Amino acid sequence: MVNGESQQLKCRECGATYPAEPIYVCEKCFGPLEVVYDYEALPRPLRGAIETGPKSMWRYEALLPVHRDREIDLAPGYSPLLHAGRLGRRLGLRELYIKNDSVNPTWSFKDRVVGIAIATAKRFGFEVAACASTGNLANAVAAHAARAGMRACVFIPHDLERGKVLMSGIYRPTIVEVEGNYDQVNRLCAEIAEEHRWAFVNVNLRPYYAEGGKTLGFEVAEQLGWRAPDHVIVPVASGSLLVKIHKGLVELHQTGVIPSVPTKVHGAQAAGCAPVANAFAEGQQQIRPVKPHTIARSLAIGDPADGRYALGVARETGGRILSVTDEEIVEGIQILAEMEGVFTETAGGVTVGVLKRLAEEGVFGPDETVVAYITGMGLKTAEAVEDAVTPPVAIRPTLADFESSVLSLV
Ligand SMILES: *Cc1c(COP(=O)(O)O)cnc(C)c1O
Ligand SMILES: [Zn+2]
Repeated sequence: MVNGESQQLKCRECGATYPAEPIYVCEKCFGPLEVVYDYEALPRPLRGAIETGPKSMWRYEALLPVHRDREIDLAPGYSPLLHAGRLGRRLGLRELYIKNDSVNPTWSFKDRVVGIAIATAKRFGFEVAACASTGNLANAVAAHAARAGMRACVFIPHDLERGKVLMSGIYRPTIVEVEGNYDQVNRLCAEIAEEHRWAFVNVNLRPYYAEGGKTLGFEVAEQLGWRAPDHVIVPVASGSLLVKIHKGLVELHQTGVIPSVPTKVHGAQAAGCAPVANAFAEGQQQIRPVKPHTIARSLAIGDPADGRYALGVARETGGRILSVTDEEIVEGIQILAEMEGVFTETAGGVTVGVLKRLAEEGVFGPDETVVAYITGMGLKTAEAVEDAVTPPVAIRPTLADFESSVLSLV
C-alpha cells in the first residue's frame, strides 16, 4: 500500500511551510505546525486500501504521517462502536452510539496518538521518549517506549490517581512527579525540550502525535457504513482530539470516501476546569486560562494549547461546548455502566454528562445519529466512584442465609 508519509509541516496561522522535522512552532508567527499531505499520492481506491488493512488504527496509514513498524506496534484502535439502545431510549434517541475507546493497549485513546509519536521518534532517531501528562499519556508513552526499546521519562503532576501512576510504573520508565499542576508540568517540559534532544511526544512531536486523533473520526465513519454522524460529543483537555476527529471526517470527504460531513461537533469539559466551555458560553474568541479543580484529572488542563481551535470547530459546525459538575460526572459513569455495561473513567463521565444535558436541551433530533466518545477505562479513576458503588452482601454458605438476605435484593 502506498503511504502518505508526509514531507511537510505547515503553520496553522500564517501558512508558512517547513520540512518534516521534530519542530512544532512557526518561526515567523509562533503559530502551531500541522502535517500536510499530498492527497494526489494516495492509493486508489482509498476505501479499498483501508478495508484490506490491519484491524487497528494503522488501516488508515495512508492518511497518517508515518509508516507502521510491526516490531514496535501495539495495535491501538479498531475499538467497538456500540449501539446504545437502553441509554438511547432514556434520552429519546434511536441512533445513539458509544465509541468505546477505553479498549486500547493501555486503556485510553492516548495509545493512538502515542503509537504515531513513537513511530515518528524512531524515524527521527531519538533515544528517549518523554511527555507532559495528566496520567493517561504517561501510561501510553511508558508502554509504547518499552516495546520500542526506548528509554522513557514521563512528567506528571504530583496529585494523580494511584491507578494511573501504577500503570506507568510497571513499564519501568523514569516517572517525575512535579510539584505543580499540568500546565506547570507542560511549561517545564517545553523548556527541557529546548535544551535536550528528547522526543516529547506532545511537545516537539506534537504535530505528528496529534494526527493520531483523526483515526477516531475515520473509524466511526467506517463503522457507520462510511458516513459521518450527525453529532459527536468529545471530551476536551488540550482540545486536540476534538479538532482532529473533525479533521478526520473532513479528510474522508475531501478524498471522496464519504459523501458529506453534516457533523455538529460538541465538546465536553468538567466545571472545575472549563476554559473552553466558558469561552463558548461567553461568546469569546480567546481562552481565559483557569486553575483546575476537578475529579476529571485527565481533562484538567487550565491553559489548553488547542482550545481556540476546538472553539472554532464547535462554532463552525453548529456544536456546543458545555461543562458538567463533579456530581454529574460520577452520575454519568454510573449511568453508562448500569445501562450499557461500559465502565469508564471520569473523562467518560464528563462525556455522558454533557450528552445527557444536550439531549435534555433538545439539541438532537430523535432519528439523528449521535456518537459519544468514551476515551478511558474506569479502574484508572477508581477513587471517583468508590462511594457510589453498593458494597457486597456478606452471607454464610447456607441456603437459609441466601433466602433471608439475598432474594429480596435481586
Ligand atoms: C487526553 C485525554 C482526552 C482529550 O485530550 P485532548 O488533549 O483534548 O486531545 C480525553 N479523554 C481522555 C481519557 C484523555 O486521557
Ligand atoms: Zn506562522
